[in-house]
Amino acid sequence: MRLTILGNGGGISDGLPYNAFLVDDRLLGEVPPDIMSSLFRERIKLDGIRNIFISHFHADHCFGFPFLALRLFYNGAPGVIKTFGPLGLESRMLDLCALAFGNDHPLREWLGGVMEFIETGPDSEIDLGDGLSIKTIPMDHPVETLGFTLRRSQAPLFTYMPDTLWNENLLPFIQNGGRTILIDLNGEPGDTHKVHLSEADLIEMALPRCGDDVVFYGTHLKQHKKTGPGRIRYVKPGDHIEIPE
Ligand SMILES: [Zn+2]
Repeated sequence: MRLTILGNGGGISDGLPYNAFLVDDRLLGEVPPDIMSSLFRERIKLDGIRNIFISHFHADHCFGFPFLALRLFYNGAPGVIKTFGPLGLESRMLDLCALAFGNDHPLREWLGGVMEFIETGPDSEIDLGDGLSIKTIPMDHPVETLGFTLRRSQAPLFTYMPDTLWNENLLPFIQNGGRTILIDLNGEPGDTHKVHLSEADLIEMALPRCGDDVVFYGTHLKQHKKTGPGRIRYVKPGDHIEIPE
């Protein structure tokens, strides 16, 4: 299994492409405002996308949905696309499309036939087909926010932890989340309003309490960060991470 990083920027960054990723060219994680630029820059075949995961309804995670939907509408989607997200997903995304292109645009009707919205809460298991499933994880963020562990036949492969503060409830999901963890590391030591995890939080709270083979990949950054030694690495657009199965 392969993880492709499409963007690594947080809501406020020094011009980084916004945080988004793709698993095996079929599961798109997040639809930030610049998602089309990121998908084309990384030469992604759009008709491979079968599932979309939106962690929460902050603009840097979902305001690109109308642009992706419009492109798929003009391209023609090869089948039903299942989009997962918190409660309210369907009305939020349809409202965004209406705001973007108008209520009468044929996109609206087309979406009804092609896009299946699956609204979910934390600790839910969702079947993606082909033996894959995701188990959702509650994050600690001002609006309801979901992460997930991707599993094949119940074996954890990869865990995504979007916007969150450190919270002890995250620990079991890290300990049982596979060896590859893509995680919000937007927090910096000097933050006046702490809303995001920092490298120091991970070093103190997570690293000593999880397996030596777990590697954390920091994303949702304010600026590019250089990876040092150890098990915390920072991603950049175009990175490919092999996920052992
Ligand atoms: Zn957020």
